[in-house]
Amino acid sequence: MFIAIDAGKCMGHGRCYAVAEDLLSDDDEGFVAERGRCWELPADLVGQAQDAADACPEGAIAVTETAPADA
Ligand code: SF4
Repeated sequence: MFIAIDAGKCMGHGRCYAVAEDLLSDDDEGFVAERGRCWELPADLVGQAQDAADACPEGAIAVTETAPADA
């Protein structure tokens, strides 16, 4: 599974890293520090990734079985 965070959609609500603290972190301005990145998830963090995607009100986080074509 892969996670991709759309930097253009992220508005810095901070909900994602609050529910996925082993996976995501915040930057100095409250945005998720990993925005704009796509990477393969360790199996034990897939649940946190899905929680983060569900928590994001902007729909900025995608969790997919294959890497996005534009990653
Ligand atoms: S919850 Fe969504 S909008 Fe908020 S910091 Fe995370 S990715 Fe960005």
